[in-house]
Amino acid sequence: MIKRVEVNYRGIFQKSLGKYLGSDIVMIASRMGKVAFSNGRYSDSPERNGIPCKYFAFVAEDLSEEELEAECGAKLDIDEADVSVVVDDTMVKGVEPWGWHGVRPINEKVHEKGCLLVITRHQPEDLLKFIAKKPYPYRLATLEGDASLAGMWVFKDDLTRERVLGAIAAVDPGIISIEAVEAYLLDKTKDARRAGAAREAYEATLRRVRLVKPGEGINWSHPVPVLPKWHEFEDTGIAVPAVPRGFKLGPRGQGRNDRFKRGTTKTHRPVIRFDLCIECTLCWLECPDGCFDPTEDGLYDVNYEVCVGCHKCAEVCPEPECIVMVDELRFENDRSPWEHWVRDPQGYIRWAEEKKGKERVHFPVVTGTGREVREGTYVPPKLSGAETPA
Ligand code: SF4
Ligand code: SF4
Repeated sequence: MIKRVEVNYRGIFQKSLGKYLGSDIVMIASRMGKVAFSNGRYSDSPERNGIPCKYFAFVAEDLSEEELEAECGAKLDIDEADVSVVVDDTMVKGVEPWGWHGVRPINEKVHEKGCLLVITRHQPEDLLKFIAKKPYPYRLATLEGDASLAGMWVFKDDLTRERVLGAIAAVDPGIISIEAVEAYLLDKTKDARRAGAAREAYEATLRRVRLVKPGEGINWSHPVPVLPKWHEFEDTGIAVPAVPRGFKLGPRGQGRNDRFKRGTTKTHRPVIRFDLCIECTLCWLECPDGCFDPTEDGLYDVNYEVCVGCHKCAEVCPEPECIVMVDELRFENDRSPWEHWVRDPQGYIRWAEEKKGKERVHFPVVTGTGREVREGTYVPPKLSGAETPA
């Protein structure tokens, strides 16, 4: 029997984490006398910043290395997962593990008796508001924590790696046992703190496993992707056609790729207080993905279907509290915020403030060095007859 683990991670920012988890599982399972190997999908191209990617680990007790590799090594995907790990909870809204070939449910591969393991600070019920229903029961486990995001090819050593290993041992000891996890971490690092983090996560996860009933979750609204045949691959494998180069500026200018809506890339999204906007154009000018559309009243609407959540607009906006980055799981659709504002300015400001909450998340200039959470300041509405749309 083969046990299969998939690690859903954010391209580039969590690539090292995904890769280390795959190789750790192989090393631990090997020390337990099993046969194992891991592989990943996707290359390191920088445009994969934040895009959902997958790393895989396979473990077997009764196969030779050759048999296991023959069974699993040549495939670009797995048919089913015993454990599907999600190291950034906003990916429960769907993942695009096949480039632009559509958005898939995060639990797509989890089989009956399998487990979806999510690093999150949300309750399971909040996550299930975004997860597709299945016709059979499965387990949903949550491990308290934040998405560990690092810079390009950088690993953030914040014990997430050790904690996830402990959590995997909790939800499926048939893959790796907690004793083997602890022994491996102690031998490898001589650091009892790391083994302790794995044990703490193991025990916490045991207390946070929930059975998801058949039919619990949402009806998946995205069309089922049609994947390319092997002979349809281009030289580079699966590549997103580039945006044609040109000199056209303005709405839907050269930065936006309509062939690949990258909305599931984001961990945070910008919320805009249109009443505070001084129409300086900086968000429109600086957004690397061309997400802002100038509007007839001189403002800048944002298209959440293509926003990757990079924080740039919030960093460059000169007006305090005008653009604030907010946890993507607080939103249930990608509708135009500007249309909401035009319809109901007062109601929009209330909505924006409620979504923003009190915390403001900032990342330091040197990526991978952590994140800072400050308290936001409430700015009263600036509405006048002239500024308020009819
Ligand atoms: S966060 Fe702002 S700058 Fe970044 S992609 Fe989204 S809209 Fe553009
Ligand atoms: S950067 Fe801020 S103030 Fe400037 S146009 Fe954009 S939203 Fe308005």
